[in-house]
Amino acid sequence: MPHPKKRKTKSGRNERRSHHALKKIALIACQKCKQPVKPHLACSNCGYYNGKEAIDVLKKLSKKERMKVEKVKAKEEKKGEKKETVSNS
Ligand SMILES: [Zn+2]
Repeated sequence: MPHPKKRKTKSGRNERRSHHALKKIALIACQKCKQPVKPHLACSNCGYYNGKEAIDVLKKLSKKERMKVEKVKAKEEKKGEKKETVSNS
């Protein structure tokens, strides 16, 4: 069986582990929904990348979840219409 011949000192052990720290992930805000997203990847919340829809996010959801999302979207659209009418008049 393999076995270490000599004990490693604390400093040797710590020097080895000095490279083990994890780096912080750089996140950017999604252009469409402002959620934090990894750069160069499509947004997992809205499925958009570079102003175009890259992923159909609703496809993976169940029917119940899909209905929920569509309800929220419809509400937001109604709000947007109301604001537009106010600004026009
Ligand atoms: Zn997004």
